Amino acid sequence: MKCYYCSNEQFETRAVKYIYSRGKNRLFVPDMPADVCLHCGMIYYHGPALLKVEARFKAIYQENAEPDRYTQMPIMDYAL
Ligand SMILES: [Zn+2]
Repeated sequence: MKCYYCSNEQFETRAVKYIYSRGKNRLFVPDMPADVCLHCGMIYYHGPALLKVEARFKAIYQENAEPDRYTQMPIMDYAL
């Protein structure tokens, strides 16, 4: 694969922080697997991982499934 932004072809798979949000609901994933461009740092999330997070999000907010744990986090809305 090639970086969409800088055309670099070297990536490293890392666990990165990811926040899935829809409306006012948020799901924080502290160890999301992703490929990180070693040149510019652009993060490419894995399709299956995104689908898994989305499914978990729906289970928590629509079916009242328990998340693995809770955290409190400050949120900044960058309103343009
Ligand atoms: Zn890049």
